[in-house]
Amino acid sequence: MNHTNSPTTWIRPEILQLTAYQVPDPGNAIKLDAMENPYHWDPPVIEQWLQVMKTATINRYPDPSARAVKQQLRTVMQVPETMGMILGNGSDELIQMLALTFNGNRRLLLAPEPSFAMYRLIAQMVGMQYVGVPLTTEDFQLDIFALLEAIDTHQPALIFLAYPNNPTGNAFGTADIETILEIAPGIVVIDEAYAPFSDHSFMSRLEDYPNLLLLRTVSKLGLAGLRLGLLIGAETWLAHIEKTRLPYNINMLTQLSAVFALQHYDMLIRQTQQIKTDREQLLQHLQQLPNVKVWPSQANFILFRVKDAKRTFEGLKQRGILIKNLHGSHPLLNNCLRVTVGTPVENQAFLETLVQVIGM
Ligand SMILES: *Cc1c(COP(=O)(O)O)cnc(C)c1O
Repeated sequence: MNHTNSPTTWIRPEILQLTAYQVPDPGNAIKLDAMENPYHWDPPVIEQWLQVMKTATINRYPDPSARAVKQQLRTVMQVPETMGMILGNGSDELIQMLALTFNGNRRLLLAPEPSFAMYRLIAQMVGMQYVGVPLTTEDFQLDIFALLEAIDTHQPALIFLAYPNNPTGNAFGTADIETILEIAPGIVVIDEAYAPFSDHSFMSRLEDYPNLLLLRTVSKLGLAGLRLGLLIGAETWLAHIEKTRLPYNINMLTQLSAVFALQHYDMLIRQTQQIKTDREQLLQHLQQLPNVKVWPSQANFILFRVKDAKRTFEGLKQRGILIKNLHGSHPLLNNCLRVTVGTPVENQAFLETLVQVIGM
């Protein structure tokens, strides 16, 4: 290979600089790192699902517009009839479609930080400028004055607000979000991945703000394996974003499984209710531990700070419990860890092991 055909000559500089998204191998560990719902379905339900799977004509392409899935998502998520919908292979793909649609000469994506890592990663991937605006220290609210100034300076094409926010678990103040919606020159995307665990949503406010788009996913609801997310908003915007969607992006097995699973929506809601109850239990127990600072959560995970996050993370991992170490990801998250709410048994194992590890 001579120097003209080496990767560094031809790979885009922004890609050369990126690190591929890392997912740790859980091995046999109790997996509390990725905000998964820990519950599968009862055996009879799995049996019914497999009967449906038998009908899959996988020699054919799937329905390109996934009509049956969309119709059911509209019903269970109470999507206003006037609003359009685009499905993605996870909401990650929809974030990428948004970045592809709005990217261009000096176009910019803005998000508060710390927040969902994919906003920055996808902006960098497509070569879009990115600006992160720090949240307030300790309570992780929107720093509205810093945001107004950043929006004025950078005129972002896209603003992403995770609501509730990952990894902090809180829902930002409604009035602050309304202010941003009113002054944003471009689009505001409210990412409601954790809607199943939260009392807050902007779904009913879509009509009020023509520059608002809403992201939802079935991942945190209990269907992470399907890879299915949805973007909701006015057709005037969605008609253009749709042009960046690759044909048949929602595969046939996902379409059939989602329709089936959403027919059992009450079962998924029971699971999320259980997770919400267990979240409060876990929160209370964590609050009682000395030298642990815990933040309340509207999601299915809890953020907490210890004296030495790396040592705590490694100690838990060695004892078979995988959580997420956030130390080093953002200055506001020094010595912070994030634990996903699991089953009561898993949560208990986590708590007991945590006590062992930090008591050392
Ligand atoms: C988990 C998560 C997503 C990703 O959802 P997928 O549909 O699984 O791609 C999106 N946004 C936020 C804030 C998340 O935490």
